[in-house]
Amino acid sequence: MKRIRQPIIAVLGHVDHGKTTLLDRIRRTKVAAKEAGGITQHIGATEVPIDTVKTLAGPLIKLWKGEIKLPGLLFIDTPGHEAFTSLRARGGSLADLAVLIVDINEGFQPQTIESIEILRKNRTPFIVAANKIDRIKGWKVEEDEPFLVNIKKQDQRAVQELETKLWELIGKFYEMGFNANRFDRVQDFTRELAIVPISAKYGIGVPELLVLIAGLSQKYLEQKLKIEVEGPARGTILEVREELGLGTTIDVIIYDGTLRKDDTIVVGGKDKAIVTKIRALLKPKPLDEIRDPRFRFDQVDEVVAAAGIKIAAPGLEEALAGSPVIAARSEEEIERAKEEILSQIQSVVISTGKV
Ligand code: GDP
Repeated sequence: MKRIRQPIIAVLGHVDHGKTTLLDRIRRTKVAAKEAGGITQHIGATEVPIDTVKTLAGPLIKLWKGEIKLPGLLFIDTPGHEAFTSLRARGGSLADLAVLIVDINEGFQPQTIESIEILRKNRTPFIVAANKIDRIKGWKVEEDEPFLVNIKKQDQRAVQELETKLWELIGKFYEMGFNANRFDRVQDFTRELAIVPISAKYGIGVPELLVLIAGLSQKYLEQKLKIEVEGPARGTILEVREELGLGTTIDVIIYDGTLRKDDTIVVGGKDKAIVTKIRALLKPKPLDEIRDPRFRFDQVDEVVAAAGIKIAAPGLEEALAGSPVIAARSEEEIERAKEEILSQIQSVVISTGKV
C-alpha cells in the first residue's frame, strides 16, 4: 500500500539570521492547537499536522491553488547547513525541501551564499524566509499574524522600506541565477523562488510560510513522497547518544517504510555495518508528563515514515551520525542491507581519500 508521507523540511541560512528562532516558533505554535491536533514532538524533529497549517492560515490557505493532501510537515530540529549536508538518504538529501532564512536587514552573508550553493548542488527545492521584518522602523507587530493581514496595518514608510529591502534580496538572487519574487507576486512556483517576509520572533508570516512549504513540497515531490508504508524502514542517524538506563541509542529520522519494535536493523558504523535487534523504540513524552528525567520517553510498537525516533539496541557504540539505518525482516534482507551500507562506506572512503 502506498500513501503520501510528510515531507522532511530543513532550515538553513547564515548564523544569527533566525533559524533556531523560527524552529522554536513553529514548535510553540499555539493557535487553535487543540482542535487542530497541535504539534507533535518527535525525536530530533517537530511535526506540524496539516490541519494546524490550515487553521493557522485561515482563508489564506487558498494561496496554494490546488488541494493539499499531505498529512503534515516534519521539520528537522537541528538547523544549519553542516547538519543539512551530513543528513543524506540514498545519496540525495534527507530533506525533501529547505527553508533558506535571510535576515532582511543584513541581506546576503557568506553562509547564505554557501547554503544556496549546497541547495543547488543537491537539487533541493527551497523557499526563502526574509526574516526580522519587525525590525523595520515603525513596524506594527501582531503575534502569529499572516503577513498579508499584517502588511495592511503598516504605514506607507514601513511598507516602502520593506519593498526596498526585498528588491535588494531579489537582485542578489538574480545574480546567482534565480528569479525570485515576493510569494504573493509569484505566478509559477516551479520557475520562481518565493520569498515570504516573516518575523520568526513574533510569528508574523509563519502561516503563509507553512502553507507554501506544504504546497511546494507536495508539488515537487508527489512521486517521491509516496512511500511504501508496509515495507521495511529506512532512515538516517541524526545523533548517537548515551542515555541513562538505556546505554548507547541512536536518534533516527525514518523517511521510508514502517519500523517495528521486533525488527532487526542494519546500521552504518565507522568502517562496518552493525547488525542488531531493536530493544526499544522511544518517542519523547509530552513535556508536562516528565516527572523524573530518567523516564523521558514512551515506548512504541511501531513508527511510520516520516518520523523521528530514538532506537535502543545492543552494539550501537560504533554507529555513526549521518549513516543509514535499514530494517530487515529476513536473512536475505539483512545481507542486502549490509552490502548496501558497506558499499556506501566504501564510496565515502574513496571520495575523501580517508580510511
Ligand atoms: P540562528 O543562528 O540562525 O539559529 O539565529 P537565532 O535564531 O539564534 O537568532 C539570532 C538572534 O536574532 C537572536 O537574538 C534572536 O532573538 C534574534 N531574532 C531571530 N529572529 C528574529 C526576528 O524575527 N525579529 C527579531 N527582532 N529578532 C530575531
